[in-house]
Order: sequence, then C-alpha cells, then structure tokens
Amino acid sequence: MIIMKKDATVEEIKNVIEEIKKHGLRADVSRGEFRTVIGLVGDESKISFAHLAVLPGVKEARAVETPYKLISREYSELFVNKDESRIVQVGDIKIGGDEPVFIAGPCAVEGKQQLFRIAEEVKAAGAHILRGGVFKPRSSVHSFQGLGSLGDAEARQALSWLQEAGHKFGMPVMTEVRGEMQADLIAEYADILQIGARNMYDQDLLGRVARKGKPVLLKRHFGASIEELLSFSEYIVAEGNKDVILCERGIVPVGKGNSYTRYTLDLAAVPVVQRESYLPIMVDPSHAAGRRDLIFDMSCAAIAVGASGLMIEVHYNPSEAMVDAQQMITPDELKEIIDTCKKISKMVTRHRKRVRVS
Ligand code: PEP
Ligand code: MN
Repeated sequence: MIIMKKDATVEEIKNVIEEIKKHGLRADVSRGEFRTVIGLVGDESKISFAHLAVLPGVKEARAVETPYKLISREYSELFVNKDESRIVQVGDIKIGGDEPVFIAGPCAVEGKQQLFRIAEEVKAAGAHILRGGVFKPRSSVHSFQGLGSLGDAEARQALSWLQEAGHKFGMPVMTEVRGEMQADLIAEYADILQIGARNMYDQDLLGRVARKGKPVLLKRHFGASIEELLSFSEYIVAEGNKDVILCERGIVPVGKGNSYTRYTLDLAAVPVVQRESYLPIMVDPSHAAGRRDLIFDMSCAAIAVGASGLMIEVHYNPSEAMVDAQQMITPDELKEIIDTCKKISKMVTRHRKRVRVS
C-alpha cells in the first residue's frame, strides 16, 4: 500500500497511479478525510516498494502482510474507523451499521402466488430484504433446479416476479448467480447478487459478478477457512466493487456419527472477520442448521456475536417447500426471531461500545 502525504497534489497522485500501471498492475484509490491511500492490485513482484516510496507526494510505501490486502484492516485503517464495518447501502437499507438487517424469503421461487404471499408475510414480520432462488445449486441433477433452469423465458418470468414482489412490498431483492452465463440477466432484476457457497472459489464468476457494480453477498464455502473467504472476497473488491457482504453459512461437520446438523455454524468467524476486515458479515442459520427447530437459537447467537444481520429461509407452508423444506420456518416464527434479535442487538451494541472505550 502507498500512503500519500497529507498535502499530496492531484498530479502527484496521478503520477503514482501511472507508475503502478506501467508495471502492469492496477491501482485501488481510497480517498480518506485526510489523505489518499493507494493499493496495488496484481503481481507485486513486478514493482519495487523502495522505488514507489521515493516518488513525489508519497509518505510511505509498504507491503501488507496478509494474503488479502484491499479488505484488510491494515489497509483500511486510514479511511475506516477500526471498530466499524463498511456500510453497504441497498436502497434505504444499510448493511454493516448498528442495526441488524434481515433477509428472508423462500429457498426457491416456485411460482408467483407463492413468492408474493411469502414476500408480504416476511415484510409484515419485519424483514428488510427479499431472497428467492431462481437458479438453484443442487447435489442431484434429478432434483428441481429452480425455475431459471427451465429456459430463458421461465428465468425472466421468475426474476421479474422477484423484482415486482420487491417493489410491491418495499424490499430490495437478492438471488443467486450460479454461473457466469447468468450474471447479465440476473443483474437486470436483482439488487444484490448472491454467490452461493459452492461457487466461493470461482474467481471468474466473482470477477464477472463484481463488474455488474451491484452489491454482492458472498457465502463461505463449507470447506473454506476464514482466510480463504477473505482472500476470495478480494477478487470482487479488486474489480473496484467494495460493496461486498460476507455470509457465514456453516462448515462441514466433524466426526463419524450423526452430526445432528446439516453443517456446523462457525460463529467465531463473525468477530474474527470483523477484526481482520472492514467488510460486513451476516449469518445464514437456515443452511447451517438444516433443521427448523434450531433456527431461533442459532439466530440469537449470531446476533449476540455481532453479525450484521441474518438470512433466513421462510415458507408459509414449510413442509411443502420444493427445496430445503426441513429448514424452512413460518413468517410467524420469523417475526419472533426478528423481534428477539433486535433486542439482543441493542444490548450487545451497547456492550461493544463500552468495551471499545475501556
Ligand atoms: C441458498 O442460500 O439458497 C443456498 C443454496 O445456500 P448455500 O450456497 O449456502 O448452500
Ligand atoms: Mn436453501
């Protein structure tokens, strides 16, 4: 990273950026209140920090030690308070502030009536953002793959229902981009582009989705370390798109016997990510637990450790959901979770502020 002097001129900043480009790298420019910081994007071995450090207007040029750099606290501490997350704004909704944000909706969009009824009921329960899968990642080719997989017309239809439901009930909408081919189409309709756990490692998909310029929710792969989650999120940020929301959704359980849960919710990932990066992190208790009787407990715990919000799968008739029926909860249950989590959030936010001061 290159820290410019407080009185560095526009010309001096431009000159540093040109120098970086000359060596085949890209520049990530962050203008803080007092000074400009420039991050390198690309193969650092092509350029010498000693050379950059003596350019006019440069205060300091040094390597960031973590494998992820642009999203690290070390790089961002000059423009983001060390206790704060980046605020990702979607319409009127702010993800990463003091108030938790709730994303809810069906696992899969099954039809217009189903989606509109769920949208209305999750909104009434207090949800801020509507989710619904149109292209579903499934383990078996013989399972329902989402309406989007039936053809172009069906995909557009399902996506337009999602967009309409969002408008009608006043919620931004989010859906998964399962493959690069879907990025342009989905970006026409969705406000947040979701990268599913299975695709966290697909750097071409991450780049393609990032360039749509919309907020991206990146789910942690179930076999990924926290370091990998952070490193892969940088493929999005390196495209100049800093509106990234991370999502912990459970990792592969250990041991031979029945693990009793679909995945193991790694709650420590929340405060760890907050210490390492300024990107906000949410929690998906639905896919982590995989059973509806645990969603309330896991939701409370996630908010207690400081998650910026939750993503929860909801259906008015859980057992009839076409995908993930066993983890679906009702809108009434969602309301109970949201009401309780708001209280927990107030308590822990106050506690955190006290801890920060002392
Ligand atoms: C989803 O949120 O719809 C989903 C498929 O989750 P994950 O990618 O975490 O399995
Ligand atoms: Mn699901």
